[in-house]
Amino acid sequence: MREVVYLRPEELPRYYYNVLADLPFELDPPLDPQTRQSVKPEQLLRIFPEPLVEQEVSKDRFIPIPEPVLQEYALYRPTPLIRAHRLEEYLGTKTKIYFKYEGTSPTGSHKVNTALAQAFYNKLVGTKMLVTETGAGQWGSALSYAGKKFGLKVKVFMVKVSYEQKPFRKSLMKLFGGEAIPSPSTETEIGRSFPEDHPGSLGIAISEAIHTVLQTPNAKYALGSVLNHVLLHQTIIGLELKKQLELLNIQPDVIVACHGGGSNFGGTVLPFVPDVLSGKKLRIVAVEPESCPSLTNGQYTYDFGDTAGLTPLLKMYTLGKDFVPPAIHAGGLRYHGASPIVSKLYHEKLIEAVAVSQEKVFEAARLFATLEGIVPAPESAHAIAHVIDEAKLNENKTVIFTLSGHGYFDLNAYV
Ligand SMILES: *Cc1c(COP(=O)(O)O)cnc(C)c1O
Repeated sequence: MREVVYLRPEELPRYYYNVLADLPFELDPPLDPQTRQSVKPEQLLRIFPEPLVEQEVSKDRFIPIPEPVLQEYALYRPTPLIRAHRLEEYLGTKTKIYFKYEGTSPTGSHKVNTALAQAFYNKLVGTKMLVTETGAGQWGSALSYAGKKFGLKVKVFMVKVSYEQKPFRKSLMKLFGGEAIPSPSTETEIGRSFPEDHPGSLGIAISEAIHTVLQTPNAKYALGSVLNHVLLHQTIIGLELKKQLELLNIQPDVIVACHGGGSNFGGTVLPFVPDVLSGKKLRIVAVEPESCPSLTNGQYTYDFGDTAGLTPLLKMYTLGKDFVPPAIHAGGLRYHGASPIVSKLYHEKLIEAVAVSQEKVFEAARLFATLEGIVPAPESAHAIAHVIDEAKLNENKTVIFTLSGHGYFDLNAYV
């Protein structure tokens, strides 16, 4: 029988975990690009609502999840922890493999976890419209869904290659009332500065979204990854996982997640960072695409989060704000930078990172789909590709990974 660990509804975590309370070092602050002084929280209020700005800089260890957000989570959380028996058998390995499955969410990925929280806090302070960017469309559809739930309009600048390649995510956004615009668009000055056949990038789409927010009353910007408050909301994944591992009475040896901007990775692993700090033998591995290797091949430096330079400077591993990644299928991993929290943990050698090729990723994805009966998102399949390498070492260990989403809207990449 398949080993699946469910939590009861009342075991849903009621607090997010803030790793900044436990780190033995300070993060380098965001800088104002003009003055190179650290950005004051007030400066962020033009684009973000106050409760999220507070969370961005908070040092409180536990932050309560608002009741209306818990009620929305209850529709799809707690998510299951599943043992990949068939994969283990196929590999003939002694290593136990478990995955935390986030594909059961309303739009099929972990991104709904922060979308709901962000929509709620925006509604609370009177925001009328949220503007954002999306790569493969997962974030755009998650935010459209959350906007619908909490009564906010949602406008999404979608990276052009994905807009053209992923029609179903566009439909999903529409279904939930979101408006999708291919980026570079003709709606903003920065968008118009690129040639018509430009494939687009997250950096450009972010610039277009922020530009729009700055010109629209009662509009705020929402980001689906990278920032501290986004990783904070995603810790619900790792907090549930901790409870599930306790039920199994298992100490994990390796935890793996794919890494684009760092939200499913951070959300999974941050609750385990205190274990690493206290000397437990636990390895944490971020997996990124060879074609967009921010952690393994980027520089640890201050850089903009977008292409036009509208965001504060963030200290992160980055390939440079002008880097345009090739049009790989894992659209959600095409971002030039990495979250400042993940970057710092990597710099301090508390976590590891590896890069894998698209070819190897799809080989792993097809194998997993066939053996385990779930088609993984191409992003998530990066984690699977590395987990297979770990399992091939054939050690008596437990390896856990996050399957951040399903790939049923990515099937054209499979066949
Ligand atoms: C967006 C996305 C990612 C990458 O973003 P992170 O912020 O690094 O998690 C990974 N997997 C899925 C399914 C996604 O939608």
